[in-house]
Amino acid sequence: MAATSDYRKLSFWHDTVPGTLAPGDPLPGDTDADVAIVGAGFTGLWTAYYLSQADPALRIAICERQIAGFGASGRNGGWCSALFPASLSKLERMAGREAAVAQHRAMQDTVDEVGRVATAEGIDCHWAKGGTVQLTRSPVQLERAKAGVAEARRFGFGADDLRLLDAAEASQLAGASGVLGGTFTPHCAVIHPARLARGLAAAVRSRGVRLFERTAVRRVQPGRLLTTSGTVAAKYVIRATEGYTPALPGLHRAVVPVYSLMIATAPLPDAAWREIGLADRPTFGDLRHLVIYGQRTADGRLAFGGRGAPYHLGSAVRPSFDRAPAVFAELRRTLTELFPVVGEVPVTHSWGGPIGIPRDWCASVGLDFETGLGWAGGYVGDGVATANLAGRTLADLITGGDTQITRLPWVGHRSPRWEPEPVRWLGMNAGLRAMGWADRHEARTGRRSSAAAFMGRFLGG
Ligand SMILES: Cc1cc2nc3c(=O)[nH]c(=O)nc-3n(C[C@H](O)[C@H](O)[C@H](O)COP(=O)(O)OP(=O)(O)OC[C@H]3O[C@@H](n4cnc5c(N)ncnc54)[C@H](O)[C@@H]3O)c2cc1C
Repeated sequence: MAATSDYRKLSFWHDTVPGTLAPGDPLPGDTDADVAIVGAGFTGLWTAYYLSQADPALRIAICERQIAGFGASGRNGGWCSALFPASLSKLERMAGREAAVAQHRAMQDTVDEVGRVATAEGIDCHWAKGGTVQLTRSPVQLERAKAGVAEARRFGFGADDLRLLDAAEASQLAGASGVLGGTFTPHCAVIHPARLARGLAAAVRSRGVRLFERTAVRRVQPGRLLTTSGTVAAKYVIRATEGYTPALPGLHRAVVPVYSLMIATAPLPDAAWREIGLADRPTFGDLRHLVIYGQRTADGRLAFGGRGAPYHLGSAVRPSFDRAPAVFAELRRTLTELFPVVGEVPVTHSWGGPIGIPRDWCASVGLDFETGLGWAGGYVGDGVATANLAGRTLADLITGGDTQITRLPWVGHRSPRWEPEPVRWLGMNAGLRAMGWADRHEARTGRRSSAAAFMGRFLGG
């Protein structure tokens, strides 16, 4: 990826972000810093942002292989949601009930924190807090919705956190086909992700953070980052590389990169929007196994994505994997099935990127005080808001704060490593296929699928 125009082609968001995408200067040679960060996605940028707020004297350096917002942070579905990859019940098993509730409540606060900082910094990232409507379009999905609400209630989350919708209420929010009901949570905002990522990069630069672009880190070690253009020596070294992590030496089994793919339509006419709804721009999906997600963009398009692209042997991440014509066609088919009024409206953009899945599907953030090595990630596709919580947490840990957020259960959590290949490839792809089969089976028969149970056992998701 060399020319600036190539970065525009990364996604609809990159294509429509104001300002230049020309890379900033690379690291000019050996240097030192107090904190060195690998990766200028949301994790790296939020960490730098809160550190520079907490202690403006700190010398912070970020090394980014491409440009700020190149990775998933610039390309995602723009759900700034309170979703945390580990459920309340799972966190309760890991750390107890109180900790589980605290983690999920912290995520809710984080949605507003992102909006607060965007406003304070003058970042026009199209933030709009319209909540999320999850549609149910089969009896099995309806059962899943009821189970989700029952779980929320068991942990003390009320109707103002998550509530069941009947068919009429759900259809009023999102006028999709075949709607039997759904759920609604107010804890989600939509954003234009590249605007947020690029805006944050400008904000940290203006605070004196040195952001070196086109600077690939070859090795992460205690006290230093070895890069293609020199060494950054630092007391604290933070890894913020999410789906790209397996390419770093010693970390190839830390997370698996799984591709999530998206399409965006041309702007829809007002008549179509009257039928579709999404008036307050709630994000939307349905409760199938292979996640789908969408948003009404500020300029009146549908941006719509889903999983289902295959996992690549050896946790490989390549630009060519961002595009999978069969998955794009399936996304187009699913979108038109949901909203037939989309009809012949052209798809103007299609793209994708890697998310990072840890073996136990539980995101984590932490800092090893002995080595000075820190990390955050494993967000399983729920990283937009979670990366903000990670950044605040790392800033607190580095500046020595013992705060409410440094006591959350994901702090210091260590996920087990993934299986070696080819078991990892076989298991991941069998799991992904099983989810697709399960969805088709459930749509056809209205009954729960045993493939889903198989998938759940291997993936532990
Ligand atoms: C298509 C898609 C849709 C998604 N939708 C949503 C959504 O709607 N809501 C949500 O919450 N989450 C979503 N996600 C996930 C979310 O975008 C990520 O979890 C989040 O952005 C991760 O941020 P990050 O900073 O940790 O990683 P990234 O944004 O991936 O950033 C990592 C950065 O590190 C750089 N890097 C990697 N290796 C090196 C190296 N060796 N040297 C230097 N630099 C390096 C990369 O170039 C990259 O810029 C989606 C992801 C994708 C791909």
